[in-house]
Amino acid sequence: MSDERTQALQQARPATRAVRGGQRRSDEMEHSEALYMTSSYVFDDAASMADTFAGEREGNVYSRYTNPTVRTFEERLALLEGGEAAVGTSSGMAAIFSICMAFLQSGDEVVSSRSIFGSTNVVFNKYLGKFGISTRYVDPKDLSAWRDAITDQTKLLFVETPSNPLSEVADIRALAELARSVGALLVVDNCFCTPALQQPLALGADLVVHSATKFIDGQGRALGGAVVGRKTEIDEIVGFLRSAGPSMSPFNAWVFLKGLETLSLRMAQHCANAQTLAEWLEAQPQVVKVHFLGLPSHPQHQLAREQQSDFGGVVSFVVKGGQEAAWKVIDATRILSITANLGDAKTTITHPYTTTHGRVGDEEKMAAGIEPGLIRVAVGLEDVLDIQDDLMRGLQQL
Ligand SMILES: *Cc1c(COP(=O)(O)O)cnc(C)c1O
Repeated sequence: MSDERTQALQQARPATRAVRGGQRRSDEMEHSEALYMTSSYVFDDAASMADTFAGEREGNVYSRYTNPTVRTFEERLALLEGGEAAVGTSSGMAAIFSICMAFLQSGDEVVSSRSIFGSTNVVFNKYLGKFGISTRYVDPKDLSAWRDAITDQTKLLFVETPSNPLSEVADIRALAELARSVGALLVVDNCFCTPALQQPLALGADLVVHSATKFIDGQGRALGGAVVGRKTEIDEIVGFLRSAGPSMSPFNAWVFLKGLETLSLRMAQHCANAQTLAEWLEAQPQVVKVHFLGLPSHPQHQLAREQQSDFGGVVSFVVKGGQEAAWKVIDATRILSITANLGDAKTTITHPYTTTHGRVGDEEKMAAGIEPGLIRVAVGLEDVLDIQDDLMRGLQQL
């Protein structure tokens, strides 16, 4: 991109960045971003090939290293998150694993929120554990628990905020200060809010990680992930990706680029539908509890107001009657999708106790608030009245 164009975009407002970020024109002068579905690149002559390989001349060599479509996605996402640089990965988990590989070594420790994505848990415990890297888990809301878990070996603090499925919020600013004071990196999984609602880098986080599979795609089509942060740290991650290979597919990058263009519009509607649904659920006699940050009854409503611009699209609620009742509500739906995915235009419904958290021990589940009667709804873009009607089918049987 020309410097003038980069500068104009850096000064532009979020909606403009989402539509224009990273865009360059090729000789074809295409308007929509081109999809460079190519694994390698050709050179004019041997000398320019040698120079490019040596890094003395800018250019693409191989799509495991760089690809113009992936680069456009990276530049656009970096602009939206307010980061210097971003790197795309083959999935959200590849993004998280690449951060670990870039910054951790044997003997190091991770302190993580206990409320994180299930596969992140597996990576920390089973795979990092194999190489002598241990992880301690803490209540994300409890700052003194974070402080107590840190040792001289702690290199990384990892948090997902708001968390899944209960929407617990961690204070990013306070955690960033803590991380800085001990020389560790604070990594924030910003999957649930996306940059449309929350920009952790501005609050002091070092790295933001995404599963682009969720709201960034927004229509449940492609797997991908990304890390955003300062250029020095992103370069370290790129170093791992280039060699180890969990790079983003150009086709998926192209899907995500188009997703980013409508992200803030979609998020606004996800949030509005979720707010309406949560308020309606709270008024139903069969519902014992609703976990949604937009309800003043949520214990962290105030903190969420301060660090997010809206409350997100995931609503969890507990029905009277435990697992049997929860399954009845799920099975009575005729429109919602019974699946664990989220961040889709289509509303999804899940029973966390027996699916996403199925392998977690009973005691641990109860301590974390994952009760048998809990249902998670990732609210989509249908008419919210139809979502309510679909849930009512089961609720009225209880
Ligand atoms: C889905 C998800 C991930 C993992 O992303 P994949 O693209 O499925 O690998 C990580 N964190 C959160 C919060 C997620 O929801």
